[in-house]
Amino acid sequence: MHIISLNAIILNIPPCLVKLPILIKRVDEVMDIVSKEKRHQIMSAVKNKNTKPELAVRSFLHRSGFRFRLHRGDLPGCPDIVLPKYRTVVFVHGCFWHRHPGCSRTTLPKTNTQFWERKFAENVDRDMVNREALSELGWKVIVIWECEVKDESYQSLLLHFLRNDG
Ligand SMILES: [Zn+2]
Repeated sequence: MHIISLNAIILNIPPCLVKLPILIKRVDEVMDIVSKEKRHQIMSAVKNKNTKPELAVRSFLHRSGFRFRLHRGDLPGCPDIVLPKYRTVVFVHGCFWHRHPGCSRTTLPKTNTQFWERKFAENVDRDMVNREALSELGWKVIVIWECEVKDESYQSLLLHFLRNDG
């Protein structure tokens, strides 16, 4: 489970799509080129995966009376939270990995810069492709950033969006 989470974070592969043997190989490759400091940062992030931000949003939605499903692998990008009744999906994105524009958490590691730039560009592209595919399938897409979860600023907007049908 620990390995799966780590891989999912590094490669941004949703847990429902994780194929362990491939990922173990790929995570070794990635870990080889990250600095010791970066490795520590990644390991710290692992502890938070699938715990803090996503659970906080789920808990808030549940308290507010919304019913949802999790990680539907049959939808593009395997959205974190799916609200079928509202034809809405929610992604809870980490600011660093998904590159929250203008956010102080969206830093660029000082070593292996080219590798990270390419990696981040892939993540951003993939997110955009998934959002467009979901939209074409008739789903409304909400992205909640990790930093918005921390200060709870997303809550009123999310409720407004859902209650007013977008
Ligand atoms: Zn942010």
